[in-house]
Amino acid sequence: MAAEPEGLGEVRQIGVLGAGTMGAGIAQVAAEAGAEVVLYDPLPGAAERALDRIDGFLARKVEKGQLSAGDAADVRARLRTVVDLESLARAEMVIEAIPEDLELKRDAFRRLDALTRPSTILATNTSSLSVSQIASATAYPGRVLGMHFFNPVPLMPLVEVIPGSLTDPAATEAALRAVRRMGKTAVLAADTPGFIVNRVARPFYLEARRIASEGGAGIEQGDAAMRAAGFRMGPFELIDAIGADVNLAVSESVFEASSHQPRYAPHPLQRSLVAAGRLGRKSGSGFYDYGADGIRGETWAELPVPAWGPMTDEAIASRILATIVNEAASAVEEGVATPEAIDLAMRLGTNYPEGPLAWGERIGLAQIVRTLDRLNASQPDGRYRVVRLLRALAGQGGSFFAPDR
Ligand code: NAD
Repeated sequence: MAAEPEGLGEVRQIGVLGAGTMGAGIAQVAAEAGAEVVLYDPLPGAAERALDRIDGFLARKVEKGQLSAGDAADVRARLRTVVDLESLARAEMVIEAIPEDLELKRDAFRRLDALTRPSTILATNTSSLSVSQIASATAYPGRVLGMHFFNPVPLMPLVEVIPGSLTDPAATEAALRAVRRMGKTAVLAADTPGFIVNRVARPFYLEARRIASEGGAGIEQGDAAMRAAGFRMGPFELIDAIGADVNLAVSESVFEASSHQPRYAPHPLQRSLVAAGRLGRKSGSGFYDYGADGIRGETWAELPVPAWGPMTDEAIASRILATIVNEAASAVEEGVATPEAIDLAMRLGTNYPEGPLAWGERIGLAQIVRTLDRLNASQPDGRYRVVRLLRALAGQGGSFFAPDR
């Protein structure tokens, strides 16, 4: 039998544009899957720093016995940094991981389009920009799509694959195969604001902030309530881990892309943390203070304090969960992805203990609708409006997963 060719099937050489947090991780997993990787970043020293981080990651894998020293050396030998964009010309696939700025990305795709062969797949790792808008900067938009990896890339098992309006199905198939070869699970998502994960996860943070700013619960209680409901981390400690600036940027981008739908409106609390430089663990303070050893201390004194209540942990969790289920239902209704893909993506992309649609059905869709209707009655600006599909299924005792839904 002929030996398996090196690389990701038909993709032997991958170009990675941008050697920051995501680019380094993508370069690593592509090289681990057998591809030759060419890494380009115009910022002096950025690509070398990425290689140092990858070395650290590989060394830890060797220490833990997850990789032999020889295999680690082979992975490293497949990674090359280059000093000009033109060196990406021979790649069969280029994955872009440069800052989340539409014009910057369109400019990069215009240049990649001009220098690569028309058969080269051009993928963007955008979190929330429109893939089709990026693709429209190219002469061959059929080979452009989204491949949305999650941070940290070597550890997170999910990649959302997002065809744009003109993407050739063969390019999508090739991307799905490449993702699988990298040992990741691919889910297909439509080119809509926030795709699956960044959209359905919005209420986890947003509703928690609303509860806090309305005086319903303190930060620590909000976190404890969601941990008790089964989440690995509460919303505030998770924002501190992600970075308040990153969280705000995704919120703003989804809000913009959704034509300012009220249920995605960024919360003033988000902006006040960023304005105060309280970006989370990385800056030593966020919702909480952190000591030099990373140990969590007190919450920020400027945060709202509970003014009424007490709101029970169950009430906090049921309100946040109801808004997540509603958002997941809206994604089904708008054809963003199948119910199965949405639940899978939320479990793998955010570590939710259960997919929100299955979770909603376990709680009872009628119960979810009652919670949302109560919230809508007190805040009738549209943000708690029950999605039609959810109301219909709740009324019929139906399921998102029924084949004839
Ligand atoms: P980052 O700031 O860590 O890295 C971006 C890198 O791109 C920098 O090294 C910068 O020098 C480089 N760069 C800037 N302009 C460039 C250009 N024209 N060509 C090549 N390189 C260029 O950013 P990141 O966190 O790695 O995010 C990259 C992309 O991935 C963004 O679109 C972001 O939304 C998305 N993303 C980020 C995360 C995350 O958690 N960080 C998760 C999923 C997706």
